[in-house]
Amino acid sequence: MSDAELVLRSTRVITPEGTRPATVTVAGGTITAVGPHDAPVASGARLEDLGDDVLLPGLVDTHVHVNDPGRTEWEGFWTATRAAAAGGITTIVDMPLNSLPPTTTVGHLRVKQETAADKAHVDVGFWGGALPGNVKDLRPLHEAGVFGFKAFLSPSGVEEFPHLDQEQLARSLAEIAAFDGLLIVHAEDPHHLAAAPQQGGPRYADFLASRPRDAEDTAIAHLVAQAKRFGARVHILHLSSADALPLIAEARAEGVRVTVETCPHYLTLTAEEVPDGASEFKCCPPIREAANQDLLWRALADGTIDCVVTDHSPSTADLKTDDFATAWGGISGLQLSLSAVWTEARRRGHTLEDVVRWMSERTARLAGLDDRKGAIAPGRDADFAVLAPDETFTVDPAALQHRNRVTAYAGRTLYGVVRSTWLRGRRIVADGEFTAPQGRLLTRIR
Ligand SMILES: [Zn+2]
Repeated sequence: MSDAELVLRSTRVITPEGTRPATVTVAGGTITAVGPHDAPVASGARLEDLGDDVLLPGLVDTHVHVNDPGRTEWEGFWTATRAAAAGGITTIVDMPLNSLPPTTTVGHLRVKQETAADKAHVDVGFWGGALPGNVKDLRPLHEAGVFGFKAFLSPSGVEEFPHLDQEQLARSLAEIAAFDGLLIVHAEDPHHLAAAPQQGGPRYADFLASRPRDAEDTAIAHLVAQAKRFGARVHILHLSSADALPLIAEARAEGVRVTVETCPHYLTLTAEEVPDGASEFKCCPPIREAANQDLLWRALADGTIDCVVTDHSPSTADLKTDDFATAWGGISGLQLSLSAVWTEARRRGHTLEDVVRWMSERTARLAGLDDRKGAIAPGRDADFAVLAPDETFTVDPAALQHRNRVTAYAGRTLYGVVRSTWLRGRRIVADGEFTAPQGRLLTRIR
């Protein structure tokens, strides 16, 4: 279809040049023009007037554990992508672990893709995994279209996905650098974790002490040194320790190719407020103190932290026991991430444009998808969220779409109601009503 088929009009459209009244014309699922608010609508086109609701680019969440197949009772593609769509997220990139098989060979990638194919309500891409024994699989996975490779520097929590020791990290990184791929890393140092007091039990303070900041800082320092040695591209996953920020900023100033993400829970929840026994707040690295959180926000503002992703990592409710040492570590955030981050961003004087930069533009760039995703601009996919930013809602677990409705946000009042989400020009959810799955499977473009 060459004719314009859809025109979205709003007094607040977030474009790369700023927020302005505009009309956005869509044809064949792609944005063809961003014009003035009163631009004439071609005959035959369908006009959607959004009034004062904000039109923003659909979010790109590059850190999601779907767990399908193999641990589908924890989370599956059907439920995870519905939660994403309900939260204004139009692209997710699935982590290679917690599913069975993990995404560590091309054969395993094919299994994942087949599993996701008819269940994806949003677009889905895949990270591969770098394990001690699979250096030979990395290049084939890269060529098969994974967006990069995830590695752990300390135990991952599932036995089929072992971590890399220092020598194995060097070997994987050398291989990945040879084809200019991307290594994304869970950076906690196993020796520092082993040396920390492992008290166990329901007290959050004991859990926090068991995952100290220096475990993160040490692992990040080592990773950055290895990235420098090989000229490799690395990305630090879910940064929690603000103490690592100076060394990251310094490395970047020296030209080391390192990017950093943090997560909604580190930005909106604090250790001081986690009730004892409340393992819905457990994740690794852990949610830290309010003073640490202030520094994470400062680093987002100054660009040391590039982006914000959910690290949505659910399990069944029975694994969320009240013993922090043994409870499953992972926070389910897909549906609430935009509202949670916006609520705190707003309180701290940031704009919705900032949130879009952190959760859509920069994450699209991280995945190399920025020719297609991450902005409202001609030539990009017509992926949108329509948001009422000044409206509030109270989080009701029963209204969540992910499979196990455990949430650390229950009862919180958040700003930002997602009215509808659009994927390639089609409204995929509005007011809790979903269409049939329209998502596509994505592969690396560059
Ligand atoms: Zn994760």
